[in-house]
Amino acid sequence: ELSRRLAAVARFVPQGRVVADIGADHALLLAFLAQEGRIQKGIAGEVNLGPFENARDRVKDGSLDETIDVRQGDGLAVLAPREADVVVIAGMGGALIASILARGEEKLRDTERLILQPNNGAERVRAWLLERGWRVVAEDLVEDGGLLYEILVAEPGDAYAPYYDSGLPLQQALETGPLLWKERHPLFPEKIRKELEGRERILTSLDAGRTREALLRKQQLQEEISGWRRLL
Ligand code: SAM
Repeated sequence: ELSRRLAAVARFVPQGRVVADIGADHALLLAFLAQEGRIQKGIAGEVNLGPFENARDRVKDGSLDETIDVRQGDGLAVLAPREADVVVIAGMGGALIASILARGEEKLRDTERLILQPNNGAERVRAWLLERGWRVVAEDLVEDGGLLYEILVAEPGDAYAPYYDSGLPLQQALETGPLLWKERHPLFPEKIRKELEGRERILTSLDAGRTREALLRKQQLQEEISGWRRLL
C-alpha cells in the first residue's frame, strides 16, 4: 500500500516502460509498479548505503529481482546513457533535484518523461526544466500527513508555452506552477494559504529589524505576499 504522495506519483508513470527511481530509499514505488505489472524494468538508484540496502532487501523479499535492478551511486550516474524511458525523483528538496538533473543531463537524451516531486523549492525545478527544454505537461498537488506536496511531470518540448499560456509574470508562474494555476487545481487555494503563512511568519520575525538588509527583506516579502494574494 503506497502513501497518498507516492500513489499520486505512480499515477503519472506510463505503462510498460523502463523506469528509474533516483533516491528510491525502500524502493516502494518500483516494487508497487512491478507487482502491478506496470513496468518493463525498474532501476532503483540510491547514493547512501542504508537506503541502498533497504531497496535491495525490499526487492529480494518481494522476489522482484528480475524486474528491478538496485544500484548504488550518485543521482543519474547509476544509469547508462539512453537506458531509462522515465525518470522519477521524489521526496527531496527542489535544489537537490535540479542539481541531480543538471549533473546527469547526458543520461536523459532518450528519456520521454520526468516525474519530479520536490518537497520544497519547486520553482528551482521548474526553472531548470524551462532552461533545458523540458515542457511541464502535468502538475499535481497532493495532501499527505498534513503536508502539501507538488508533483511536476515534464517531457521534451516547447518549455516556454505553459508559462506564456498561464498569463502570469514568469517568476510568479515558476512559483505557482503554470498548470496548477491555469487549471485551478482544487488544492491551489491551500497552496496559496501555505505560501502566505510562511512569508507572514518570517515577516513577523523581522519586525524588530531596523538594518538595511532587514528592511529590504521585509519589502521583498511584502511584494511576494501581495503577489500571492492577487491569485486568491
Ligand atoms: N524517493 C523516495 C520517496 O519519495 O519516498 C525516498 C525519498 S527519501 C526522503 C530521499 C532519498 O534520496 C534518500 O534515501 C537519500 O539517500 C536519497 N538521495 C539523496 N541524494 C541523492 C543522490 N544524489 N543520488 C541518489 N539518491 C540520493
